[in-house]
Amino acid sequence: MGGFWQRLGARWRAPRPPGAGFVTLVGAGPGSADLLTLGGLKALEAADYVLHDRLVGAEILALIPAHAVREDVGKLVGQDHQCTQRRIAERLIELAQAGFRVARLKGGDAFIFGRGGEELAVLRAHGVPYAVVPGVTAALGCAAYAGIPLTHRDLAQQVSLVTAHCQGSCDRIDWAALGRARHTVVFYMGVAQLPLIQQRLLAAGRAGDTPVALIERGCTTDQRVILTQLRGLAHAGRTQAVVAPALLVVGEVAALGESLAWLRPPVVLAAASDYRPTRAAA
Ligand code: SAH
Repeated sequence: MGGFWQRLGARWRAPRPPGAGFVTLVGAGPGSADLLTLGGLKALEAADYVLHDRLVGAEILALIPAHAVREDVGKLVGQDHQCTQRRIAERLIELAQAGFRVARLKGGDAFIFGRGGEELAVLRAHGVPYAVVPGVTAALGCAAYAGIPLTHRDLAQQVSLVTAHCQGSCDRIDWAALGRARHTVVFYMGVAQLPLIQQRLLAAGRAGDTPVALIERGCTTDQRVILTQLRGLAHAGRTQAVVAPALLVVGEVAALGESLAWLRPPVVLAAASDYRPTRAAA
């Protein structure tokens, strides 16, 4: 079934009264369809249009009913984000004002590095009603599928979710806080920034033997987990040719990915076997 039939099907739908248009912001989770919520599935089933990002996996897209028109509004590499965001917002408003029910499907959770807030602000400004269905964010999904508990009674009492997509704004990150032991730090969008992350965390006082996990294409059949230590992070990223989307988990808990992995064994460069928690960290 190609896009043509989908479009035709949507055009044949009974027209809705003006003002019936509605947008549901749906978090798709990080990959596996198992991680879409029941609320997310219901929103897809009720939708006339589904506008989705590039990061949304094929398994999830396959759940979009045939009657709904599917539009890929994912950002192209190098394309101006502001411009793309504006076009997406305009499309959402146009469809909702025409009376359609729209599901805006985004990878992970829309409110975690997903620009969900910006999209809702535009809808609110145009009087378009909306609802939000949370999604499993990459940190939670990838940690679970890698066997890495983000908190642990003995090893971590805090978790931070940090974007490494920070050219020019890296100084806004509180590196001193992230440099403390027993603090799990999950970096999103960090593949290109591994040398910088390594250098900043070491400079902030994080121990060189702090375990780290790189989780590539987490929660998918291609998932790969690489365990090493902070001092070897940039080297691991280079020699293992880690590609996006990948998530970086820094902290004592990452070592547990060696013993608690369940999906498939991780690539262990240096981790639990080499890591000896000090009294303070244990
Ligand atoms: N809103 C999303 C995050 C968008 S930012 C969420 O809540 O998960 C995109 C970044 O998320 C990627 O660069 C990567 O760091 C991370 N990510 C998303 N899906 C991933 C996956 N399946 N495996 C590993 N990292 C993922």
